[in-house]
Amino acid sequence: MSAIYNFCAGPAMLPQAVMKKAQQELLDWNGLGVSVMEISHRSKEFIALTARAEADLRELMQIPANYHVLFMHGGGRGQFSAVVNNFLGDNGRALYLVNGQWSSAAVAEAKKLAGEAQIDSLNIVEKHNGLNAVVLPDLHKIDADYRYVHYCPNETVDGIEIFDELDSPWPVVADMSSTIMSHEIDVSRYGLIYAGAQKNIGPSGLSLVIVRDDMLKLPSLPQSSVMDYRIAVEHDSMFNTPPTFAWYLAAEVFAWLKSVGGVAHIADVNRRKAELLYACIDNNAFYRNGVELANRSRMNVTFQLADPALDAEFLKQAEAAGLVALKGHRIVGGMRASLYNAMPLEGVQVLVNFMNEFAAKHN
Ligand code: PMP
Repeated sequence: MSAIYNFCAGPAMLPQAVMKKAQQELLDWNGLGVSVMEISHRSKEFIALTARAEADLRELMQIPANYHVLFMHGGGRGQFSAVVNNFLGDNGRALYLVNGQWSSAAVAEAKKLAGEAQIDSLNIVEKHNGLNAVVLPDLHKIDADYRYVHYCPNETVDGIEIFDELDSPWPVVADMSSTIMSHEIDVSRYGLIYAGAQKNIGPSGLSLVIVRDDMLKLPSLPQSSVMDYRIAVEHDSMFNTPPTFAWYLAAEVFAWLKSVGGVAHIADVNRRKAELLYACIDNNAFYRNGVELANRSRMNVTFQLADPALDAEFLKQAEAAGLVALKGHRIVGGMRASLYNAMPLEGVQVLVNFMNEFAAKHN
């Protein structure tokens, strides 16, 4: 079978080397004669795995000692509610910046749960010459006492990424589901970072939370114990049975990322992949991307065909060429190529060759 390149936005492709290793040791992990998913999460072997996962992640992201790393249930959306429930007790207020589908979904969930707490939201996308551009407000000029400001640095559906770190008087809570570990960040600038696993970490269902310890002193709303950060910290993310196989795969992804050169290296590859694809879009009048240069996502490249009547044919021929899952999100239409850490540069080169040929044939 010739190579298949999977551009799915999530659950997304995982590194080939990790998948092969998982396949090899599926029935006999660590010489135990059973699968890693068949052993107790409290066994010394599994505990060693979790310690290695955390140490590797701390090294990859340079996580300071005053932050806790949690492996939780419920994916990205689980954290939409966890953040509210953990931090907005006693009538707290929070500000949500909105730059696309996922940040608006976070607002909707927050408003649903807030009760007496107050959720303010602020749209930060403007049209500049017909392109979507993020304009960050001066948060220091807003006279309000927020518990946190929530934002989504990479909007997976819209293909809008914010590369500047927020300058905020309040703790920053970031939904990094589709950008975590894709480039270097300064973790110390965040109160809490969360990410659904199914893009740059591992299988869906798992979510990663990195939380500064002082955040845990904020008053919480009544909530489910499994989503309570304090309980998760106290129990090393094992208050209830954690998603052990997903955690194992995440550990393998972290080890893989370290082995290829860490976040700085992958950031460079990611920049080159994105540049290659955006250059193809910009050099062909046949394709169009609707995001201003500074906010073009490196992880989720959205584009439209000049003639949407050709969308189905484009997708059919792409699939025949081994380029799968390029259909844009149902809400925005068009195409989307997700270029997470596991996507090799060759995959983008094959896509670009295909797109150039398709455009030449149909121009
Ligand atoms: N936030 C972002 C930025 C996402 O891309 C997604 C999923 N694509 C979510 C939240 C929701 O994640 P989940 O489906 O794991 O709840």
